[in-house]
Amino acid sequence: MTHVITEPCIGVKDKTCVGECPVDCIYEGKRMLHPPDECVDCGTCEPVCPVEAIFCEDDVPGQWAQFTTENVRLSGQLGSPGGAAKTSPLPYDTGYLASYVTGR
Ligand code: SF4
Ligand code: SF4
Repeated sequence: MTHVITEPCIGVKDKTCVGECPVDCIYEGKRMLHPPDECVDCGTCEPVCPVEAIFCEDDVPGQWAQFTTENVRLSGQLGSPGGAAKTSPLPYDTGYLASYVTGR
């Protein structure tokens, strides 16, 4: 299980969460950020997000359920690089996230 970043992060990307992660596993994608399999589920990032985009996988709101699937998909693409400082920013998200329309 991991934490999942959802729709409100798209286009915000202020990276407050990045500085809070004890294992540096929040990776910057093209439109939003992603915590992949390296997430140890500590929950530290969740309360610091100014737009409440971060949820424990079990608590992702229903309307954003697909973001959990996309997080798994992106984890598969990314693998375990061992720290966002080594790889970010990534030049991609998943296809679903690339074409997601926020309405904002
Ligand atoms: S703190 Fe929230 S809005 Fe900012 S980058 Fe992290 S998930 Fe996105
Ligand atoms: S839950 Fe903890 S380990 Fe996972 S992304 Fe957030 S701060 Fe990092």
